[in-house]
Amino acid sequence: AHAIRIGTKFDQPLFGQQALGGKLTGFDTEIGRTIAGALGISPDQVQWVEAPSAQREELIKQGKVDLVVATYTINDKRRQQVSFAGPYYVAGQSLMVKSGNNTITGPDSLRPTKARVCSVQGSTPAENIRKYIDPDQLTVFDVYSKCADALRTGQVDVVTTDNVVLLGFVASSNGGFKLVGNTFTREPYGIGIRKGDIAFCTFINNALTQAARSGVYANAWKTTAGKVTTQTPELPAFDTCS
Ligand code: GLU
Repeated sequence: AHAIRIGTKFDQPLFGQQALGGKLTGFDTEIGRTIAGALGISPDQVQWVEAPSAQREELIKQGKVDLVVATYTINDKRRQQVSFAGPYYVAGQSLMVKSGNNTITGPDSLRPTKARVCSVQGSTPAENIRKYIDPDQLTVFDVYSKCADALRTGQVDVVTTDNVVLLGFVASSNGGFKLVGNTFTREPYGIGIRKGDIAFCTFINNALTQAARSGVYANAWKTTAGKVTTQTPELPAFDTCS
């Protein structure tokens, strides 16, 4: 029997990626295992549930998962439906293009170059990018790996989402992709839980604090996303549990 159900991404290298055989690796899955461990639950008792961006609130509201750790930005719109522990990391939106592309330099270059942009349904980057482009420039899929495939095959020119999500696809592109420009949003990653469960929020925040003190948090980063980024992050200051 599974003691806890955790929603995460299954197709995002460095954060939540399912290997052949089913084992999940990534910073989010390590954070999930750490929270399970604090509850006295061993890694093999965790049931992982795929949580694509647009399904996260519903999975929590319908009780299909106990928590979501899935590159999940804390914002007020989502807070109307779920509560968040954390943040445990702060990312920022960026752009990914093919390595040979030198015409796209940042979000302001997307309209003049008529770039075809890909992002994911129900994500903050799919909303944030709209002010930089015309509606017909945007393609949305359910998961980011489909955007990466579309970039590879030339169906789109740009993939946009959080910098660290894109870095995972760059790392597995054999030199085919690169990031361009600076980050242009702030994306604090929270752990989504049932709305109003302040006791669980507080418990998770305490578990994260303990993981930072013991080195478990830094080690989770170094063995996953830290493989392609230089700086190991500090655990950010938490939001108030509400
Ligand atoms: N952090 C952003 C969001 O929660 C983008 C990454 C994702 O879609 O998981 O919408």
